[in-house]
Amino acid sequence: MLKTDILIVGSGISGLFFAMKTAKKRPDLSIVIMTKKMAKNTSTQLAQGGIAVVTNLLQDSFEQHIQDTLKSGGGQCDEEIVKMVVEQAPERLKELLEIGTSFDKNQNGQWDLGLEGGHSQHRILHHKDRSGLEIEKKLLNIITELPNIRLFENYQVIDLNTEKKENETHCTGAFFYDKNENKIKYIRCRSIILSTGGCGNLFENTTNPEIATGDGIAIAARAGVEIEDMQYIQFHPTALYTGKKSQLFLISEAVRGFGAYVVNEDQKRFLFKYDSRGELATRDIVSHAIHKEMHETQKKHVYLDCRHLDMKAFYKKFPAITSHCNELGLFPEKDLIPVVPAAHYQCGGIKVDRNSATAIPNLYAVGECARTGLHGKNRLASNSLLEALVFAHQASENIDKTIELYQFSSKVLIPKFPNKEIKTDYVAFLILKKEIQALITNFYSSEERNTDYAIHKIKLIKNAAETLIHNQEITIPFIEFSNMLTVALIIIKHCKKRKSPYILSLN
Ligand SMILES: Cc1cc2nc3c(=O)[nH]c(=O)nc-3n(C[C@H](O)[C@H](O)[C@H](O)COP(=O)(O)OP(=O)(O)OC[C@H]3O[C@@H](n4cnc5c(N)ncnc54)[C@H](O)[C@@H]3O)c2cc1C
Repeated sequence: MLKTDILIVGSGISGLFFAMKTAKKRPDLSIVIMTKKMAKNTSTQLAQGGIAVVTNLLQDSFEQHIQDTLKSGGGQCDEEIVKMVVEQAPERLKELLEIGTSFDKNQNGQWDLGLEGGHSQHRILHHKDRSGLEIEKKLLNIITELPNIRLFENYQVIDLNTEKKENETHCTGAFFYDKNENKIKYIRCRSIILSTGGCGNLFENTTNPEIATGDGIAIAARAGVEIEDMQYIQFHPTALYTGKKSQLFLISEAVRGFGAYVVNEDQKRFLFKYDSRGELATRDIVSHAIHKEMHETQKKHVYLDCRHLDMKAFYKKFPAITSHCNELGLFPEKDLIPVVPAAHYQCGGIKVDRNSATAIPNLYAVGECARTGLHGKNRLASNSLLEALVFAHQASENIDKTIELYQFSSKVLIPKFPNKEIKTDYVAFLILKKEIQALITNFYSSEERNTDYAIHKIKLIKNAAETLIHNQEITIPFIEFSNMLTVALIIIKHCKKRKSPYILSLN
């Protein structure tokens, strides 16, 4: 039976950065990273724009970054957390640079800082338009060199095991599905880090990869940990419209920062009607304005217009975006690029303190699955990679001091192994997943938000699923479907409890 001091669930920036820091500081501790697909299948590796850090103190200041973050969060951010994250950013950046991560510089050898919506200054460090990929690659390189880390791919964590000791609940291990052997197994551990990313796949249109099914939220909720602010789902205004409902390719905010216009069918800019910052307003405002325009003009998308830009510089800065557009027969120097808002980022999540600890003291949540208080109603662009680094650091420092309090449980749990998966299972649960996506998308975009009706629909989907589960078998499609259903219900309930900004409201 597997055993490790620390179990990390997820191989994005938050899980890997935590692993690297902890493994270096505590070579005496064993660390296992589990990831449900291949290690590189993350939102992290898709990040284009970059990471927000105040580096140019002549023009910029921590205070300005703090104020931009607070403004974007619509009065719902935790100011102390915002301050901590912004002020720690240069130190965390230094650690990324020390492992060889490279960010673009200008001809004078200074950082080539990008500008994005809601930022009052150029402060985004980037590696062309493949910033996340650069970070993920460098972190994965270092992880493989650290002898006390084991990385398991195709291991999908299903649930945590908790035990009550002296009135305090602790995590003692996790059940996981080993997809390589098609078996459910158990791992014992002293501390667990959930770094499972977001839940974009609950929506019909998302920029997120298929791994983003909200697993960490559902797992934590089942363990009894509080989930907060799930009504605050951020929509990115400019995902490439293809006419398909699925994962959409992102056209980074940095493209608007570089000067691209958002125009309607008549090739007219319309964002100034909604905000004096026009294309550089925050994502909630731009997404809402685009939806309204689409509704009024009865069109399925609007356009990004790059034709007036310095195209030589554009291609140099955005090679991945350019080549993706070209593959679809779109040439930004002459064509308008059709774009549509898509579910992009989960601002709420597993409630954690400044050390990224949950209410279960040896359970931590880091990265997009955590609700730290940084983002409020609406995350400021490029603050997410930064948040992941800062909270991975905080968790690592904290675990170094607390891990001795938690010993391995003497109980050894033997899970039952399921039979081979039934093929039809995939098709049936795929259909049910699509029902959840349609339900949540319609719920989110309707003006009235009938929560009772949505909860009733969730029950109907659950009933349909129950008839499909033969002999209590646990299969991958079933696990993801159950997690999505749980998270859908949490989003609906949170919308009922507290009004969300209703970004997609079409009124
Ligand atoms: C297209 C796109 C562009 C973006 N651009 C930017 C940007 O420029 N700047 C910025 O700051 N932010 C950006 N973001 C947001 C940012 O990339 C993410 O918020 C961040 O990378 C999340 O990192 P993470 O470590 O929390 O999760 P992820 O990188 O999503 O990793 C999640 C990991 O958890 C694993 N996992 C999930 N469930 C399970 C399970 N049950 N068992 C085992 N493993 C599991 C997954 O397999 C994966 O390894 C962007 C996001 C997208 C989608």
